[in-house]
Amino acid sequence: AKEAGRGGHAFFERYMFDEAEDNRLLEQDVRQALGGDGLGLAYQPIIDADSGEVVAREALLRWRHPKRGEIPPDQFIPIIEDAGLIHQIGDWVIREACAEAATWGSDMRVAVNISAAQLSGAGLARTVLGALAATRLEPSRLELEVTENVFLGDDAATLASLERLRGLGVRLVLDDFGKGYSSFGYLSRAQFAKIKIDQSFVRGAAEGAKDCVAIVHAILALARGLGVETTAEGVETEAQAEVMRLLGCDQLQGFHFGRPVRANELPRTQRQDSRR
Ligand code: C2E
Ligand code: CA
Ligand code: CA
Ligand code: CA
Repeated sequence: AKEAGRGGHAFFERYMFDEAEDNRLLEQDVRQALGGDGLGLAYQPIIDADSGEVVAREALLRWRHPKRGEIPPDQFIPIIEDAGLIHQIGDWVIREACAEAATWGSDMRVAVNISAAQLSGAGLARTVLGALAATRLEPSRLELEVTENVFLGDDAATLASLERLRGLGVRLVLDDFGKGYSSFGYLSRAQFAKIKIDQSFVRGAAEGAKDCVAIVHAILALARGLGVETTAEGVETEAQAEVMRLLGCDQLQGFHFGRPVRANELPRTQRQDSRR
């Protein structure tokens, strides 16, 4: 048993070491990618449920690693955060997304994801202000998406940070709504312009799961009461789109309407000019 224990320990240590080594190499690669063109944004359309028109696009970080190919943001963003690079990269994302959106039709919005780590510290408001000024993007055309994770840390600092951002005229969006345990409670913490209903409920409601239908119904009623817009996330089929439309969701987003694509692949007709 002792042998096995030691063996197991050695294996564990080795595994840990390899993973740390792996992350260290990835971190070096991220630093390099920052200077080059490995890091980029993809944009996914958000559709008005009634008119079917594209009313916004969500910017999603993409990293094409020279050897490993595309690495999903869920995997590399934690590494970026551990390496202390999230502010640098997050700032770049905001500036890039604003510059891109400034080339679109004048009422199309752009949504940018903000992690809890980015929200701590006063730098974010300065970055947003700088990006808006540099690109002359109307503040109301910028949406900042946060998940309820941002409320897990220092609450007072988070609320102050959100309030400062809202003071700039940008729209705050509560992402992955319903996925956590306290979504309803968090909704009253800050003044959100919109909530995004997590894909799991969209899927469940379309499959006729009674609890999912009831929860989506309740979310939409609450949002309506609070004057908060709603977007259904991860809509993959017409059946899912139809259910969310019927339940009264304002906007729809998902592969059914369009996958995230790089800026140069966006439909030309929806762009104001071709500056870039
Ligand atoms: P999220 O904010 O919930 O973004 C939606 C994710 O769902 C995206 O994955 C998108 O590609 C995917 N998706 C969209 N429609 C569908 C669909 O119909 N079906 C399915 N199965 N998936 C769909 P992605 O691009 O891999 O991003 C994953 C997460 O990484 C995001 O989740 C967000 O939390 C984070 N992330 C992405 N870009 C950034 C960024 O620039 N900054 C920060 N802080 N986080 C980011
Ligand atoms: Ca999001
Ligand atoms: Ca989401
Ligand atoms: Ca999600």
